[in-house]
This record gives sequence, structure tokens and C-alpha cells, in this order.
Amino acid sequence: MEHLSINIHGIVQGVGFRPLMHRQVREHGLCGTIRNSSSGVVLELEGERPALERFLDGLPQRAPKLAVIDRIEPRWGGALEHYKGFTILPSLVESERNTLVSPDFGLCDDCRRELLDPKDRRYRYPFINCTNCGPRFTIVRDLPYDRPLTSMGSFPMCPDCEREYRDIENRRYHAQPDCCPVCGPHLFFVNAAGERTEGDEAALKQAREMLKAGKIVAVKGLGGVHLACSCADPRVTRRLRQRKQRDEKPFAVMCRDLACAEKICEVGEDEARLLESWRRPIVLLKKKAPGLTHISENGYVGVMLPYTPLHVLLLGDDIDMLVMTSANLSDTPIVYKNDEALERLSGIADGFLLHDREILKRCDDSLCFCLDGKEYPVRRSRGYAPYPIRVEGGRSSMLACGAEQKAGFCLSKGDYVFPSQHIGDLKNFETLENYEQQIAHFERLFDIRPAAFACDLHPDYLSTAYARERAEREGLPLLQVQHHHAHMVSCMADNGLKDPVIGLVWDGTGLGADGTIWGGECLAGDAKGYERIASIRPIPLLGGDLAAKELDRIAWVLRREAGLENPDNPVFETMLAQGLNCPLSSGMGRLFDGAAALLGIRTLASYEGQGAVLLEAAAAEGEEGTYPFELDGEPLRFDWRPMIRAMCEDPADTARKAAKFMNTLLRMAAETAQFASRKTGVTDVVLSGGSFQNMYLMRRLPGLLRARGLNVYHHSRVSCNDEGIALGQLMILAQTAPPA
Ligand code: ZN
Ligand code: ZN
Ligand code: FE
Repeated sequence: MEHLSINIHGIVQGVGFRPLMHRQVREHGLCGTIRNSSSGVVLELEGERPALERFLDGLPQRAPKLAVIDRIEPRWGGALEHYKGFTILPSLVESERNTLVSPDFGLCDDCRRELLDPKDRRYRYPFINCTNCGPRFTIVRDLPYDRPLTSMGSFPMCPDCEREYRDIENRRYHAQPDCCPVCGPHLFFVNAAGERTEGDEAALKQAREMLKAGKIVAVKGLGGVHLACSCADPRVTRRLRQRKQRDEKPFAVMCRDLACAEKICEVGEDEARLLESWRRPIVLLKKKAPGLTHISENGYVGVMLPYTPLHVLLLGDDIDMLVMTSANLSDTPIVYKNDEALERLSGIADGFLLHDREILKRCDDSLCFCLDGKEYPVRRSRGYAPYPIRVEGGRSSMLACGAEQKAGFCLSKGDYVFPSQHIGDLKNFETLENYEQQIAHFERLFDIRPAAFACDLHPDYLSTAYARERAEREGLPLLQVQHHHAHMVSCMADNGLKDPVIGLVWDGTGLGADGTIWGGECLAGDAKGYERIASIRPIPLLGGDLAAKELDRIAWVLRREAGLENPDNPVFETMLAQGLNCPLSSGMGRLFDGAAALLGIRTLASYEGQGAVLLEAAAAEGEEGTYPFELDGEPLRFDWRPMIRAMCEDPADTARKAAKFMNTLLRMAAETAQFASRKTGVTDVVLSGGSFQNMYLMRRLPGLLRARGLNVYHHSRVSCNDEGIALGQLMILAQTAPPA
């Protein structure tokens, strides 16, 4: 007989690890103990050596599906304790909090079955959950993760729930949010007149009737409140847009099941797996046919499946799909409290389906494309946050503050980097407030005291101001990181790359090292530094930021520079001549904007990147043609003037011209990367920056680069847009910080 200690690090608490081990240890004929530790769980086992080895070997495969195992440390030997059976010991007193918090889990199949089973005591109970599903991150006030420190603390368990909670054979063993109709939270409904209806069934009935009658209902979910309405009638969605002051941005849709999603979108195997995964993100699916423009004006629709029992009951078996959009007013943070919902959404929602389980932390729905069978994140939030990303070589704790329009921060501790959930546009005062609160919450929850800060180079970003202020107040170092360098390193970290790479970084805007705006960049380097190998010929932005809205300003400049005939505009001429409020930008996003305007696709943008999104949607499939361009100079410059001239003179239709425009950029990207590879001897290429949310580019560029002998990496864990930038900032800061 031998003694074996196994230290398991990672997310192994609150995911049913101990009960599973209980069963498996007995199946292997072993005895011993298990207890939660500060970094995971510790197993102490005794038995014959072959049985112990078999148990150890199979451990990673047999872990619960929600567990994330980072490291298994076995230690053989140790004095024999002669255990009888298998015991679960109380947690160690934790000197240092290192326990990881789980994200919120979508409803599991077992709970779904019980929810719809008339014989179950939780039949049609909208808050059914178990060890394998339910709220986590959004209801945690503090660690350790125990019921009193969650918003379920105000619902003492009834004897039946208590029994399940204590029974190691039960699926609800130690499920902190577990509850039932007797002891748990309940729904209530409030109509526009403020009249309140109590009771789950009565509240649901009112909400469903309203939705079917074409009304707008605020529905409190897991990480915030949605505004829901019927998809069928464009007049209803138009009313929602008017009330929400959201003119044209696409809405997400919640479909009852895969079959309903397939009615409107193409759902491949990979997409189906993502949709049905416990993370239940919104997946951007290609429309089956053009149309549904009242929901999404581009070629994709964001679809999610019901992820809480409440959603299942709300859709029932007769509502196929609903528009489900975050309840907020033009870019403020998502509403998540009952009072706040009733006050701020009055005049927007016709009714409110709310409940008394408090949401403690906002968490928006996650949003991704499906690329190469994996998530290609646009917004990393519910179901992902606050899962950390593991990076090798622990460093002292740091905070990277991110950028501005798509804000997000990263905190690090040892080998872990914790990216925040979706934060939004910091220009908004309330978003800034939320940003500061979430940083404070993460620091407390994970017991992180940053010893250094990183932020963007841009002096006017509010995240920069925040970082500066804190660094100054706390007397700690601050590193300002160039925007596109951070994008590149973010994609490196996303893929676990350390050695130098070539970074194709395309986005709308970011302050360059030379004081101009960059955004069509080819860099080479690593976290220690970079070289700007190539960029696109700068575009003077007439009126600065205004040019990103009034796209015909860019179109006018492109035509003028390309030597094409242009309508007279003495104001613009004067601005250009005197360099008055026309900063130079090599942003790829602006070139897309200009092209969208030139092609008559869009001249006025109501949200950032709209020109590019609509140009992509307009492009013809199967068009192989390109336009001429020039690539020369040191650093290399992509001269788009021949392309613009050819495009404007091309008699082809808009769809073909849009495709040829992007094909030209693809060819330019491939040639640029090849040039950079010859120059540096590096063959790994990373793709980052918001312009790579363009799936026309992403479905073609990797193949083109591989054909030239290059290895291609893209994001799969954080977003390619500015939300993912904090990860890169942090890794660059880590280069300057001493190892922990
Ligand atoms: Zn469950
Ligand atoms: Zn109960
Ligand atoms: Fe960017």
C-alpha cells in the first residue's frame, strides 16, 4: 500500500469536483480525503500502486466538464494514514485567496428536464440550477464562494434543498445558488402603470402575452436586463430602436432551439456546438437569405439560445424567437437592478419581468463569430469572465487599463491574467464609473494589489487618465504602450507565442509613436519591442473625428488624392492647405469608410465601423478580381491611390467592386507580410485589430498567408478589437517588471 498526495490547481471548486472524486476514488478501490485549498483541491489517497497510478493517469479526462485544470501535482510517499473510506474535509483556512471564480453557466440538460417535468418539485421553477449550471460570477459578493457571500445569502435553504446540498450523491451537492419554489427567489411583473403582479406563473403569463401582442418587455436575466420584443414585426423593432435611441446597430435574437435558428441562419456543426455550449454566447451567424434588415442590416444575425430557466419558460413552446438586446440607453452600461430598471426603462419598456435574486455584477452577453471551429470573440463577457488566461512565468501583480471605445482591463497575479467582462465605451460617465468599480471588485475578489500599471499612449483616453492618476497616487510605475504594439502582443498571448512575430494590425484608430493616427500596420517584434515595417498611405481626416461619421469627407479626400474629379469644396481645400483640423490617419477603418462612401454604400455612419460592416455585407461572393496598387518605400507604404482610381472607374456593380476592394487589401496584406518575413526571417504572423472582425478578410487571409509559407495565428480567447488590447499591454508591461 502507498500514499499519494495530488494537488490539483485550477477552477475545480463549485463545479462538482469533490462529489465526482468521491465516486471515482471508491470505484478505483482507494481510500482517502479531499479538501478545497487556496489554489484548488488536495486529494490524499492510499491504495495499491497500480490502482493509484490508474486513477492519476485518468484524472484529466474524468474531470467535471465545467472544471478547468491547470496543473496536477502528484507526490508519492508520505506516511500511511490508513484511511477508512473517503472523506470530504472542511476547507483549509486560507491565508491567501487564490481561488478562482467560475463564470455563469447556462442551464444544463438535467435541470432543463426537471424544469419541464410536472412530477418534479422544481417543475416550471424559473431559478432551478445545480452544480453544473446557474449563476456564479454575477452573484458573488466576495470569496470564499459560499452562499452567504452571494446574493443567494438572503434565501435560507428549506430542509429539502438542504438535504440535497449535503448529499454527496446528489447533483446539487454544495451547489451554493441551489433553491426551489419554497425557499428561493421569485418573479414579479410590473406594468407601465406601475401595477405589480406577484408569482412566477402570473408574471410569466403577463410577459408572454405582452410579447405576443407586440409590446416591449424588460426581462431581468443573469448579468443584466434585456429588452425583449417580437422579431416578426418590423414596426415593433422600429419602436424599440426609437425608444432606445439605437438607430441602426444590429439586435441579438434569442431562438427557442437550434431548429428555430436554422430557419433564419446557416448553422454548421461548429456553430451549433458553440450555441449549445454551457457558455451560450451570442454567435454571429450568416443569414440564410438577405432580409431581416429590421434586426440586422448586415449579412449576419447574432443568435443565442435560452441560457436560464426563465428564458426557457418565457419562450415556451410557441415563441420561436425574440429580439433580446441589452437594456441600456445609447451605450451606457447595462441596467441590472430592479429599481434602476423601473426608473430608467420607463418609457422604453411596456412591462417589466423582474425577480428578487439580486445581480451583484453586470455581465453582458458574450458575442463571437465561429472561426475554425472555435470562438472568434467580439465581446468576451458572460460565460467567459472571470476565467483567467494562464501565462507562463509568474510576475508581480499588474493592471493594464485598456483603450477607450471598447474598454476592458486585465489584472494579473502569478501565472494568471484576469481579463474583465465587457465594459463598453468609456467616453460615457456611467461607463467610466462602472469601469472603476469593476477594477476595484476584481482586485478585491482575487486579492490583487497591482505593483505597476500599463495604459495606452493616447493622453486623452479616460483609461489613460485613470492609470496616470492611480500610478501617481500610489507612487507606482506606469508604462504607456503603443496601441498597435499592444494589439499584436495581445494576439501573441492569446496563442501562447513568445518568439518574435509579424503583426498585421488593422483597426480604425490608435495613436502612433510619431504622433499621427495609425491603424493599417505591419509590425515586427515581440513584447519587448517592435519595428514598424509597413503601413498604409496616410489619409487626411477632414474635421478629425467627424470624418469617421461623415464618410463622404473621406471619399472626397480619396478622390482628390487619387487625382479624380471632385466637387468643388473651398472649405475642405483651405483645411487641407493649412493643415487645419485634418490629422493624418493610416487607419484601415478609415480606408473602408471612404470606400463605402465612394461605392454609395454608406455616406453617414451612425456607429463606429458601420461603413466597413456594410461594405462587407455588400460584397459579392466568388469575385476574384483585384485593383492595382503600389507597395514601396522604407518603411513600406501601401499606396491606395491606384486602387481608388481603378475602383471609381470600374463599370462593375457595387457588389463586385466591394469584393475587389477587399481582395486588393488581401493581396496587399499577403505581400506585406511576405516582405516583412524576408526582412526579419520571422515566419509567424498574428492578425489583430478591429478590422479583422471582417469575416470576408478572415475567411481568406490565413490561406493566402499560408500559401506563402507563413504560419498564421488569430484571436480565439480575447477580442481582436480594442477590448482585447489590455492583455497585450499587460504582457508588454510584464517585460519591464521583475519576476514575482
Ligand atoms: Zn443544472
Ligand atoms: Zn428549497
Ligand atoms: Fe485598436
